[in-house]
Amino acid sequence: MTDALLRLRMTFLMAMCASVVVFLAVAGTTSMPLDGDLLRQVAAHVESQVDHPARVHLAPRNGRLALEVRYVPSAERLSRDATAQLENRIMEQAMIRYPGFIEEVLVEAVAPEDLLAGRTGPGDQSQVGRAADLRRRLDAEGILAYGDYHWPVKARMLPWKYLLIHHSAADSGSVEIIDRGHRKRGPSWKGIGYDFVIGNGQGAGDGEVRETFRWTDQEEGAHAGVVLYNQQAVGICLIGNFSSRDELASEWKRLRRSGEPPEPCEPSPEQMESLRFLAVYLLLKLNLEPDCILRHCQVKPDICPGGNFPTAEFLAGVRKDLKRLRSGR
Ligand SMILES: [Zn+2]
Repeated sequence: MTDALLRLRMTFLMAMCASVVVFLAVAGTTSMPLDGDLLRQVAAHVESQVDHPARVHLAPRNGRLALEVRYVPSAERLSRDATAQLENRIMEQAMIRYPGFIEEVLVEAVAPEDLLAGRTGPGDQSQVGRAADLRRRLDAEGILAYGDYHWPVKARMLPWKYLLIHHSAADSGSVEIIDRGHRKRGPSWKGIGYDFVIGNGQGAGDGEVRETFRWTDQEEGAHAGVVLYNQQAVGICLIGNFSSRDELASEWKRLRRSGEPPEPCEPSPEQMESLRFLAVYLLLKLNLEPDCILRHCQVKPDICPGGNFPTAEFLAGVRKDLKRLRSGR
């Protein structure tokens, strides 16, 4: 089995969508190793679906972004039917889970030595082993934990123009807790006003991302306090109060609370990692630029998401992921 058994190529978007991927100027056959958190997560998930040693690359190809999966069939010989079945399953997995990223999927069965040849760097040999070894290695690096991130919608996508970041201004919380709170605001509130909530380990998992009906049903939000942004901004709320020491002190004073204000805190690393992944996912899906990411305080006189929210670091991370993804490096 030294030659490729079969190469399948499926193009999933119509030509009219091609303008969306004009950024892929490096069109060609150059393959690049998966780099950046986002790409690693996509690759890890696809690799985890393959019951064989596999390498996954994202590559610009004919002006589109292609997912290339190379795997080593475990049996000495696989029938043509069995191979086609396996490859279809891989493609299905990739397309169902990452429709916003991947325009086409190429699946190729290769010999073990071909899996290493050319396309892999030094030190990558550990990738060629039993599938279980591959999974253990990926698990150890904490990559597979993000394999299930995917937020499909059940309705026609609204014309989103922004992502709007909030904090919940409470130490703990979850979608359910915020939902109950928002319903109490009056009969006109359908429920939680945000599209996404990212937990902090108190009330919801640390870094856990939950979508709400606002996103899945593509309903306008109720989070911005400004009609335009409720209509055009995807609302993302991180559980926690990220107000700075000064902001907390003046808030305490304003509310005439007794005693000392609480110690200030910051979003957890897990929350920020999830937010970065979610933001990149949404920017790609909605074809937006990082400049479209706003903090609540930028659209309304408010301190949300607080002075301790690491804005510069977060935006730099998002730009880095997007640049890598779009330039192919
Ligand atoms: Zn807010």
